Amino acid sequence: MKKIALAIHGGAGTIRKSMITKELESKYREGLKNALEAGWKILQAGGTSLDAVEASVIVLEDNPLFNAGRGAVFTHDEKNELDACVMDGKTLQAGAVAFVRNVKNPIKLARLVMEKTEHILLAGVGANEFARQMEVEFETDEYFFTDFRYRQLLTAREEHKIQLDHSGVQSSKSNPKSLGTVGAVACDFLGNVAAATSTGGMTNKKFGRVGDTPIVGAGTYADDKTCAVSCTGHGEFFMQTVAAYDVACRMKYKNLSLSEAANETIEHLRESGGEGGLIAVDAVGNIALPFNSEGMYRAFITSDGAAIMEIYK
Ligand code: ASP
Repeated sequence: MKKIALAIHGGAGTIRKSMITKELESKYREGLKNALEAGWKILQAGGTSLDAVEASVIVLEDNPLFNAGRGAVFTHDEKNELDACVMDGKTLQAGAVAFVRNVKNPIKLARLVMEKTEHILLAGVGANEFARQMEVEFETDEYFFTDFRYRQLLTAREEHKIQLDHSGVQSSKSNPKSLGTVGAVACDFLGNVAAATSTGGMTNKKFGRVGDTPIVGAGTYADDKTCAVSCTGHGEFFMQTVAAYDVACRMKYKNLSLSEAANETIEHLRESGGEGGLIAVDAVGNIALPFNSEGMYRAFITSDGAAIMEIYK
C-alpha cells in the first residue's frame, strides 16, 4: 500500500519560546492538532489529498489564533481582506480568491472557483459576488475582529509600516510576532498530491494589495510529477522567487529530492532578502518543512508514524 502524508503550517516568523506563554503555546498546539486530525481522517479513510488539505485549512481558518479566515489581520482601512488558493496535483487545476471580504472560509470559495468556473483567480467585488451566487457562508465584521490583531494594526499604522504579520510589530507574550498564514499539503493513497493556502495577508496593507498566497506558483503549487507546496512569509519575496513552483522546478530540472529542492528554494529566498518557510510533500509521501525565520508553526503525519508538531527552530 502506498504511503500517505499530510503536513500543515500556521505561519512562520519571529517565534521564540520566550515570547509565548505556556498557555498560548498549548492553544497553538491544540489548533495544529485539530487541523491535522481533520485532514488525516480523510486520507486514512481513502479520501483525496484535495479534500484533506481543504479540511485542514478550514479548521485553521476557523481558529482566531491564525492569520486566515476568522483571525485575519487588518488592512490600513481596518478591514479584513482574505486570499486563498487550492491546487490539485493530479489535474493541475487550481482555484483562488483575492481580497474577498466577510467570507467565512475563503478556501471553500477557492475550491468553488476551481470546480465551478472556467477561471483560476477571482478578486475583490467579483469574487464576493461569486461567493453570494454559490451561497457560501458569510460572517459579520465582528466575527473577524480580534483585539490583538487590531492592536497590531494600530502599532503598524503609527510606525507607517506595512506589516508582515510575523515581524516588526513590538511583541509581547500576549502578542507575539508570529501568527501567520495557514496551509496544508497532502499525498493520498493514489499518490495524488494537493496544496491549499489561506491568509489575511499583511497588517496595514493598502490599495488592494495581494500577496503570494493566491498566486499559483508563488505561494501555492501542486503537481503529481513533482510535489505540492504551501508557503508562508513575506509574500512579495515569494512572488519574486516564484517559490512554490521553484521547488517543483528544482526537482524536475535538477533531479533533486524533495528536501534538497525545498532547502535550495528557502536558501534562494534568504539570498533575495525574504523571510519565511514552506511545507512540501511529494507523490511518494516524503515531507519537507524548511524555513529561514526563527520559527514556523508546523505539524505533519505520515503512515510511517505518529504526528509531529513543532513551533521553534
Ligand atoms: N505570505 C502572506 C502574504 O504575504 C503572509 C504570511 O504568510 O503570513 O500575504
